[in-house]
Amino acid sequence: MLLQNKVAVVTGGTRGIGFAIVEKFLENGARVILFGSRKETVDKALSALKEKNPAWEVSGMFPDLNKPDEIARAFSEIRQKYGALDILVNNAGISQSESLYTYKPEDFEKIMNLNVLSILYASQAAARIMKEQGGGVILNTSSMVSIYGQPSGVGYPASKFAVNGITKSLARELGRDHIRVNAVAPGVTETDMVKVLPDSVIQPLIATIPLGRVGKPEDVANAFLFLASDMASYVSGEILSVDGAARC
Ligand code: NAD
Repeated sequence: MLLQNKVAVVTGGTRGIGFAIVEKFLENGARVILFGSRKETVDKALSALKEKNPAWEVSGMFPDLNKPDEIARAFSEIRQKYGALDILVNNAGISQSESLYTYKPEDFEKIMNLNVLSILYASQAAARIMKEQGGGVILNTSSMVSIYGQPSGVGYPASKFAVNGITKSLARELGRDHIRVNAVAPGVTETDMVKVLPDSVIQPLIATIPLGRVGKPEDVANAFLFLASDMASYVSGEILSVDGAARC
């Protein structure tokens, strides 16, 4: 019960890594508000969680993450309802694999809008509340490509390099307000996207990972739990790799 009674928002909490973080936080006593992009996917995630444990305190919202006003309004509603906002996980993200030769300016804009700008907007709105209440935790989902880049789809690694920059800078700026800021950098993780890959793609990939398997969403969620909890009370500005020691 590392997060007993903490109030946590997880963006992109409807599936994949975000859903695993929501579940892990609930198992550890947090009250969680998951954010998704649509009512239908938010409702689906909530019913799956309620089915697992009807006692879990979980609800959902779907503000537009590119509208700072909508995010601020959602956080202020949360604060009114729960009395606090202790943890923000900026996890929503999209990836790209388009080659540079066919890359369009709108591709770059789209990925930056969600993977970078939405983090700034949500962190700004959350930090205002956290400062007033005496502290909090902001966590971001980065990626192994934020260290190594990737061979196509340049906007995705560029966005994750930016996530690391935001993490390290906000940790320095917000430390005096008792707000810790960290990121988790997952390697290849078995979300829906990876599960459908054929063996011919997945096996050579696994061969490059020293721990001999792809990550599970729960492996990544465990790292988020540690960083969200008081176990990490003196950890801030870190990018924690959870990638089985993959270096490619
Ligand atoms: P996913 O596609 O399964 O889930 C993405 C989540 O983001 C969903 O909940 C979705 O609702 C939300 N989302 C997408 N577009 C949105 C929008 N416009 N507005 C609001 N929410 C939106 O992906 P995932 O694999 O679970 O990825 C989650 C995070 O982990 C991302 O930031 C991704 O870059 C990162 N990541 C994933 C892997 C991997 O191998 N799966 C590896 C490294 C990093």
